[in-house]
Amino acid sequence: MKVAVFSSHSYDRQFLTAANQAHSHELVFFEPRLTPETAPLAAGFPAVCAFINDTLNASVLEILAAQGTELLALRSAGFNHVDIDRAHQLGLTVARVPAYSPYAVAEHAVALIMALNRKIYRAYNRVRDDNFALEGLLGFDLHGSTVGIVGTGKIGQCFAKIVHGFGCNLLAYDLYQSPACLELGTRYVSLSTLLAESDIISLHCPLTPDTHHLINEASLQCLKPGAMLINTSRGGLMDTQAVINHIKAGRIGYLGIDVYEQEENLFFQDLSDEIIQDDTFQLLQSFPNVLITAHQAFFTRNALENIADTTLLNITQFEQGQPLPNQVHPKLD
Ligand code: NAD
Repeated sequence: MKVAVFSSHSYDRQFLTAANQAHSHELVFFEPRLTPETAPLAAGFPAVCAFINDTLNASVLEILAAQGTELLALRSAGFNHVDIDRAHQLGLTVARVPAYSPYAVAEHAVALIMALNRKIYRAYNRVRDDNFALEGLLGFDLHGSTVGIVGTGKIGQCFAKIVHGFGCNLLAYDLYQSPACLELGTRYVSLSTLLAESDIISLHCPLTPDTHHLINEASLQCLKPGAMLINTSRGGLMDTQAVINHIKAGRIGYLGIDVYEQEENLFFQDLSDEIIQDDTFQLLQSFPNVLITAHQAFFTRNALENIADTTLLNITQFEQGQPLPNQVHPKLD
C-alpha cells in the first residue's frame, strides 16, 4: 500500500524501513508535520502515517479524505490529537499502536525523578567546570517516600513496580483499580488526597476532556508543599500557568516534564539557532528545579521496533480487509 509518512525523522525511516521488509508497502517519507498546508503532499496516498504533533483536526481530515486517503495509521498510543468523530463521518479508518513499550515511558519518568532529586543535571555541569562543591545538591531517599500515581494503566503499573522496588509507599487515583497495583499494596484515594499525601506525583492517564488541566490552580492548592510533579503523559493534563505560579510560590518543589501544552511548535526539531517565541516555556526553563525533556519517554530501540511492526501490521490488515484490532472507534473517545 502507498503510505505517506509525515513528521518522519532519520529514526522513523530506519525502523519503518527495516520492519517493512516483512510487508513491502511503498513508504514515502515526508519530514514536515502534517498540517493544512502540507496535507496536499498526501494526495493519492490511500494511507497516511502520522505522529503525535501532526494536526489531525476536521479540516486536515477533510483534505485527506477528499484526496483519496482511507487509512490513518498513527505511530502512537494516544489519539487525543485526532478528531475521531469527523474521521468516522468521512469514512477514514484510524488505527493506533496501543502498547509498544510501557517500560520505556515508566523508566523515563523514574529517570526524571532521580535526576531532579539528586540534581544530576546540575552536578554534571559543575564537575565539568571543576566545581566540586555539594551545596545545592542535597536530595532525599526515595525509600520510604510516598509516590502518587495518576492513572494505573499499562505505563502506570510499570511505574508502580519500579518505585515499589525503591521501597516507596504507593497511592493511586484512577477510575478503575488495577489488581497488579493493589498487589503491590497501592492505596486508591481521591485526587485531592493523593496530591496532599504524596512526595512525588507522576501522571499516567490519557488526555481527555475529563483530564484536561487535571492539575490546575484549584487542585494544586491540595499539594503537599515541596512535592515533585512528573508529567510524561500529555502537556494538556497540566495548566502550565498554574504550575508556574506554584513553582514561584515554592509550593511545587520540583517539576519534571517530558510533555508540554504547546509542544507542537517546539519539540522534535532543532531550534538551537532560533529565537524561541514561547515566553511561558522559556520561563519554565529558567527555574533551577525544573527538568524538561522533549517528548523522548517513548524513545527506546525496543519501543521504535514495536511501533514500526504494529504500524505496518495495521496497514497490512487494513489493505487485506482483515479484522483491525487496533482500530480507534468513536465510542472509545
Ligand atoms: P492506558 O490506557 O493503559 O492507561 C491509562 C489509565 O488512565 C487507565 O487505567 C485509565 O482508567 C486511567 N484514566 C483514564 N481517564 C482517567 C481519569 N479521568 N481519571 C483518572 N484516571 C483515568 O494508557 P497507557 O499506555 O498507560 O498510557 C498513558 C498515557 O501515557 C497515554 O495516554 C499517553 O498520553 C502517554 N504516553 C506518553 C508517551 C511519551 O513518550 N511521553 C508515550 C506513550 C504514552
